[in-house]
Amino acid sequence: MNYFFTEEQQMIIDTAKEFAAKHIKPVREKYDEEGHFPTEEVKKMGEAGLCGLYIPEEYGGMGKGIMGLCLAVEEMSKVCSAIALSMAATALGTFPILLFSSDAQKKKYLPDIASGKDLAAFGLTEANAGSDALGMQTTAVKDGDYYVLNGTKQWITNGGEARVYSVIAVTDRARGSRGLTAFIIEKDTKGFTFGKKENKMGIRASATRELVFQDCRIHKDQIIAKEGMGAIVAVNTLYNSRPGVAAQALGIAAGAFEEALAYSRQRKQFGQPISSFQAVQHMLADMATEIEAARALLYATAKTIDAAGDAKAFAKESAMSKLYCSDVAMKVTVNAVQILGGYGYMKEYPVEKMMRDAKITQIYEGTNQIQRNEIALGLIKEIASKK
Ligand SMILES: Cc1cc2nc3c(=O)[nH]c(=O)nc-3n(C[C@H](O)[C@H](O)[C@H](O)COP(=O)(O)OP(=O)(O)OC[C@H]3O[C@@H](n4cnc5c(N)ncnc54)[C@H](O)[C@@H]3O)c2cc1C
Repeated sequence: MNYFFTEEQQMIIDTAKEFAAKHIKPVREKYDEEGHFPTEEVKKMGEAGLCGLYIPEEYGGMGKGIMGLCLAVEEMSKVCSAIALSMAATALGTFPILLFSSDAQKKKYLPDIASGKDLAAFGLTEANAGSDALGMQTTAVKDGDYYVLNGTKQWITNGGEARVYSVIAVTDRARGSRGLTAFIIEKDTKGFTFGKKENKMGIRASATRELVFQDCRIHKDQIIAKEGMGAIVAVNTLYNSRPGVAAQALGIAAGAFEEALAYSRQRKQFGQPISSFQAVQHMLADMATEIEAARALLYATAKTIDAAGDAKAFAKESAMSKLYCSDVAMKVTVNAVQILGGYGYMKEYPVEKMMRDAKITQIYEGTNQIQRNEIALGLIKEIASKK
């Protein structure tokens, strides 16, 4: 399919592809096995200009929007989505600042994120507040010019590795979702520590940790937007970042498909390549078709959000792209393992890792059940507004 990429978009794809082949492929198996965080590779990602694609030029980035971010994440995720995630989850942690922060906060934090010097993370989820994220318990109690945070955020990607954390806490429980506030919190702030690194099924090179706040004092200058706007910051962040999860899922699917196609031509059974069997051909045909449909939906969503300069009006499409690309990733990776047969089940081939990595894309940034809820809500709102 020809997506009529601009010269700059093609350059992003080529750079990310080359980067993945040179710096990600040689370490992906080892990092997956050992659960090793790709600190060195992130540094090199920054040097290659891949960390600031979605950050405006005035803050040290490349100004290539969500489409630029998606193209790079897709390309790197074809090889290893866990390593690509260090950058994609940084985007998730950066969106609150990008969308809602003051110019001074942007100037303070964005250039070092754009260069790859700093990673970011987004702290929303808690042990008893997952899908119902706004039912969180972490509190931020006002004390003069400071807020005192207490509570624990769970399963935070880049936790412990990032320097910059966008964290949502309750400032006024009586006000419900209007009583939440978003803060920028730096690593090494007194009263802010990390839980143990989680041992996960997939994306094992990504670090997932608790953020623990014990009487952690944060100056009011670190508030994102205004007190009480935390829920708005959180949902708008997710509308903007879900295409990035979709790109990760699409990359995993495309990477697994490439492996399965190549293997099917080389593996011989009954005296002929398995690609000559119609049962295998039809699996490959379905995989390729669904990947292309997922890609078309994602690119259309990313371009639409970039053109509008705001994802709020496209929450439904953002959810659709995350939902569809991640469901395709799961289906395609399961079928890739099937096409490789017993070899697909072995760690010598990358498809079993891709299958494990695909699963999380149906879970984080809102499970796919939650995406379906959001899509349905969007549809109902649209029809109601036409009456
Ligand atoms: C590896 C990893 C990394 C993560 N990274 C981050 C991060 O960086 N920052 C962050 O804030 N969070 C992060 N999360 C948290 C993630 O976003 C949540 O796990 C996710 O939103 C689901 O919440 P839960 O796990 O508590 O599931 P639950 O909310 O307990 O859901 C359990 C099941 O019930 C279903 N369900 C729940 N409510 C409904 C409903 N209303 N309608 C239909 N079905 C429903 C769900 O779809 C799911 O199938 C991460 C999680 C993991 C595993």
